[in-house]
Amino acid sequence: MTTPARASIVVATGNPHKVIEIREILGEVGIEVLSLNEVASGDLAEPQEDGSTFAENARLKAVGYARAIGRTVLADDSGLSVDALGGNPGIHSARWAGVGGTRAERDAANNAKLQRELAARPSASRGARFICAMCLAAADGSVIAETVGEFVGVIADSPRGANGFGYDPYFVVDASGRTSAELSPSEKNARSHRGCAARAMAGFLARLRAEPDAS
Ligand code: IMP
Repeated sequence: MTTPARASIVVATGNPHKVIEIREILGEVGIEVLSLNEVASGDLAEPQEDGSTFAENARLKAVGYARAIGRTVLADDSGLSVDALGGNPGIHSARWAGVGGTRAERDAANNAKLQRELAARPSASRGARFICAMCLAAADGSVIAETVGEFVGVIADSPRGANGFGYDPYFVVDASGRTSAELSPSEKNARSHRGCAARAMAGFLARLRAEPDAS
């Protein structure tokens, strides 16, 4: 008796934190998650990410990379939407402060900008949500499925916690005041925007598992 091949998908992101999160979530449904670095050479052209919504950008990345590497690709586009800032930074979350440098430097500058913007509106609500749109595209570039997840919280005025990335240390997620950077990886995955969007993909991914040649 031969063991059936395990279906695999490639996650289209250069963010190692996202790969770890998605790998843990989809490992539970028996899907092998590979990163772009594991399957493609470094000179792979990045698809233009010029959509005006999370969903459009996730689709551009999934379809662009699936065609480029000829494999099933899952892409996510995500960010923070702050009520008092009219939904900003939204799709501009990653580079909101306009600072280059390392991921840690960009995150620090983005969080400093978030605090400045909210300090200028002292009586405004600090309600916010993370949003994650996911798109699964087949090797020929056709869209298999699209999902979305949200994670509701409140922006703290000082950072807490060392887990996660980006805005996590400022994102308060429960009544005890814990931030998402204080959640363990599995606690964050159980509640997060990325966890919700990935679990909503489970049915489509189960089909890939049944027909591993599709990947
Ligand atoms: P993307 O790589 O274009 O999807 O950019 C997502 C950006 O949104 C990240 O660089 C973070 O600044 C922010 N973000 C998205 N998801 C999370 C999260 O789970 N925790 C903290 N920040 C996040």
